[in-house]
Amino acid sequence: MKIDLKNLSIEKAARGLRQGDFTAVELTQACLDQIQAANPGVNAYLEVFADALDQAKRADEKLKAGTAGPLTGIPGAIKDNIMLKGRRAGAASKILEGYTATYDATAAAKLTEAGVVWLGRTNMDEFAMGGSTENSAYGVTKNPHDLSRVAGGSSGGSAAAVAMEGALFALGSDTGGSIRQPASFCGVVGLKPTYGAISRYGLMAMGSSLDQIGPIGRTVGDCQVLFEAMRGRDRRDSTTISENTYAAPRREKGTPLTIGVPRHFLSGDGLDPAAREAFEKALAEFEAKGYQIRDIELPNIAYALMVYYIVMPAEVSSNMARFDGVKYGLHVDGRDGIEDYFRTRRAGLGREVVRRILLGTYVLSAGYHDAYYNRANAMRRLITEDFEKAFQAVDLVATPTTPGPAFKIGEKTGDPVAMYLEDIFTVTANITGLPALSVPYGSTERDGHTLPLGLQLTARAGAEADLFTAGKLLLGE
Ligand code: GLN
Repeated sequence: MKIDLKNLSIEKAARGLRQGDFTAVELTQACLDQIQAANPGVNAYLEVFADALDQAKRADEKLKAGTAGPLTGIPGAIKDNIMLKGRRAGAASKILEGYTATYDATAAAKLTEAGVVWLGRTNMDEFAMGGSTENSAYGVTKNPHDLSRVAGGSSGGSAAAVAMEGALFALGSDTGGSIRQPASFCGVVGLKPTYGAISRYGLMAMGSSLDQIGPIGRTVGDCQVLFEAMRGRDRRDSTTISENTYAAPRREKGTPLTIGVPRHFLSGDGLDPAAREAFEKALAEFEAKGYQIRDIELPNIAYALMVYYIVMPAEVSSNMARFDGVKYGLHVDGRDGIEDYFRTRRAGLGREVVRRILLGTYVLSAGYHDAYYNRANAMRRLITEDFEKAFQAVDLVATPTTPGPAFKIGEKTGDPVAMYLEDIFTVTANITGLPALSVPYGSTERDGHTLPLGLQLTARAGAEADLFTAGKLLLGE
């Protein structure tokens, strides 16, 4: 039987496996065939695991024994900065060439335990710093909808792997939009959970107060299943929270939700007309389905991008100090320890990573600490309060995920600020710790290609359930 990967959600696949329509080995083989066909053009995978079919065989045994769960035998991909014990993990950086993970990331281990089949590891911007996967040391990931365009980033490989039907799902990490932006560019669904909802243990740290692991899938329901499987307290990550940390909003089941729109933030000409049109259509669709749409004010939101590009590099500069040429990966010999350090980092780290270490060191340095880092932190608090106030009146906040569709490869590489502006709608969820979901909605024609667009919904802390409810309603799941 030929497996129709295009329309296969996790839920459908799990049913097919249980009913014996196909085996996990057949499903995995279908994905491997598709990877072989599409990956040379797209470059979503850095490595395809040689034991994928063996994992699938074990899943088939569980299925036969009747001990299978909703994720048993489901083939997925993992971003190159999330560790699986005994496998390579490199964050798409030369400095980690040859590095093998010595332990499992908690989130990944939970999925392994649930029976997923790991197909391989996906390409990304080096150490997750970027929005186009152009900062990978292993070549750019191309957008499956148009190979002359970026897949987004930093989880570009993960989003592209799902979009090219080379996996049913993929894990990504999101520090300022790295799950949602590539999901939007590739026409798939991406969730950045509430800060602490999923353990970061085993995720290579970028900005520790911002980072979250999350799922990328074809449907909202798929992201929900994966989120449920990965969430929860972990004694190895003290920032993790339990399901009950935040009180669920009290409302009757089935009550239509209210969506707030910060129109004042969308009025500039930075928003592509097609993205604006798709956004308005999505709002109209929600209204037609009984949701209320309301204007809201987020007075300080215009500062969010600046706050992010101060706090994030500050944390990056500190987190990157561990790559010293001794503990992991690359080592370049010099005359003494200090020279080893400089040579290794010079040889192993790419330009964008170096730029952020420099920026971060600068904003944290004596004399500038108050002017930049402390003020950014104060503003971070104000932006969070803006959202808290807004959530007294609405259940969700909607914006486009990105200012426009996927851009051309090379279009923004010469201008870091233009690249950073792509993150304008996504960084707020990381600054505030709130959960946000990107769902594909609408498309636009560019040079004969149909490019997907994305809608972003942000919810109260701990209210991922509202994101899933609204996302499913919009996509008709
Ligand atoms: N594009 C953003 C950046 O370059 C987001 C990165 C991320 O979420 N990892 O910082």
